[in-house]
Amino acid sequence: MTPIVDADLCIACGNCEQICPSVFQVIDDIAQVVDPEGCEFFECCEAAEENCPVEAITLEEE
Ligand code: SF4
Repeated sequence: MTPIVDADLCIACGNCEQICPSVFQVIDDIAQVVDPEGCEFFECCEAAEENCPVEAITLEEE
């Protein structure tokens, strides 16, 4: 699956980066997907998605 962050919703709380730093990093007050393939290797994307307070993270199935 491929993670997508909705920049309009993200409030830069840092939860996703804390839970899944290999995939998400907060840069310039927006969470960025730094490794789009990362969810295949690091099993933390679902937890990051579930813990986003504004539901800004979508996990696209391929
Ligand atoms: S958890 Fe959600 S609101 Fe918080 S930084 Fe990540 S994408 Fe943004």
